[in-house]
Amino acid sequence: MTAARTLPGHPHIVRTGDALHVEGLSLAALAAEHGTPLFVYSKQWMLDALAAYQRGFQGRDALVCYAMKANSSLGVLRVFAEAGCGFDIVSGGELVRVLAAGADPAKVIFSGVGKTRAEMRQALAAGIACFNVESDAELEVLNAVALEEGHRAAVSIRINPNVDPKTHPYISTGLKGNKFGVAHDHALATYRHAASLPGLRVLGIDCHIGSQITEASPYLDALERVLDLVEAIEDAGIPLHHLDFGGGLGIDYNNDTPPTADALWKQLLARLDARGFGGRRLIVEPGRSLVGNAGVCVTEVLYTKPGEDKNFCIVDAAMNDLPRPAMYQAFHQIVPVASTRSALPVTYDVVGPICESGDWIGRDRELSVASGDLLAVLSAGAYCMAMASNYNTRGRAAEVLVSGDRATLIRRRETLEDQLLTERFAAA
Ligand SMILES: *Cc1c(COP(=O)(O)O)cnc(C)c1O
Repeated sequence: MTAARTLPGHPHIVRTGDALHVEGLSLAALAAEHGTPLFVYSKQWMLDALAAYQRGFQGRDALVCYAMKANSSLGVLRVFAEAGCGFDIVSGGELVRVLAAGADPAKVIFSGVGKTRAEMRQALAAGIACFNVESDAELEVLNAVALEEGHRAAVSIRINPNVDPKTHPYISTGLKGNKFGVAHDHALATYRHAASLPGLRVLGIDCHIGSQITEASPYLDALERVLDLVEAIEDAGIPLHHLDFGGGLGIDYNNDTPPTADALWKQLLARLDARGFGGRRLIVEPGRSLVGNAGVCVTEVLYTKPGEDKNFCIVDAAMNDLPRPAMYQAFHQIVPVASTRSALPVTYDVVGPICESGDWIGRDRELSVASGDLLAVLSAGAYCMAMASNYNTRGRAAEVLVSGDRATLIRRRETLEDQLLTERFAAA
């Protein structure tokens, strides 16, 4: 047996001999017990990722709000709730989920461009910390709902700083052409409007410029633009209690080298201090960087299919389980769970069973595999299960949370009965 070694960039994934483990547990054994496709998460990776933010903010008045849309499974939310985390939600459904997981509503902030009146009422009743408002029209509606309910809603206005996060166009959110936030040039007028509405209490300012950002410079650019606005807004007599810089920090999918959260915040805090804002309450909304590399998806090879132009490795996970390649041409590493095969590797497109050419998980991968082998799709903790669907009447996968040598099935595999439950035939 060879010594245990961790996979590069994945300190919680260990190859011992020829078997892949998440923390202390073998993926082959977990797959045998729970079936495939199976999501397996490392609790330690999540806690380490959170600790990097906490180190970065040591001695500051700061709140980390996990952007739970990245992975909203109750068992994952509970890990962060128990660690004292706040949460960034984007729907009333997420509010119900996170409260069920034990979150403190006073640490919940509510983002998103399309909040409904019902969701606003629900969040006011729960006593959330702040609404991140994205338009003048939303301000009017929130003001009206708050007055009806006898509340004053705490608001922060999301600014679109018009900086390029240098990421995939579908996950950049802080450019002029994006639907998010209030334009930088219009922000002061929106703040004046907010301050004039009796149902609102202006609390802060926020921005979120995109996702899978792997350099510090877009954050530094956004920071300067936001601070310019803070100065202008406060000069107009509207004090801001907190500054929220959103999420977006990237993870290592394929030799990506994003800064660590503490290194990034060291740079940002130096600028905040230099401009006299280092003592303000700071909020961040990381999603992917708290869960992305905590997860793997274990899938079984169903068939290999040699072709004229391409060879296909057909697996039992598909775009309904792992939507990122189909949606964003995203890259996930794919590695064998057992590395015992001696056959020469073949270049495969790894694809799922769904009837769409977009149903691929990896292209041009060198693998030595046969039917029945298990593969691990890495970096599957964020925006995978949370985006899973029932396309092709496929049940959603099961999820296991590993802590040391303990595993908990945090979501059982969805059954066909689960899927058919909500449907009815039309009357004859
Ligand atoms: C999605 C989102 C986040 C989290 O983004 P990550 O890239 O996952 O860190 C934070 N804030 C808002 C408003 C979001 O929409």
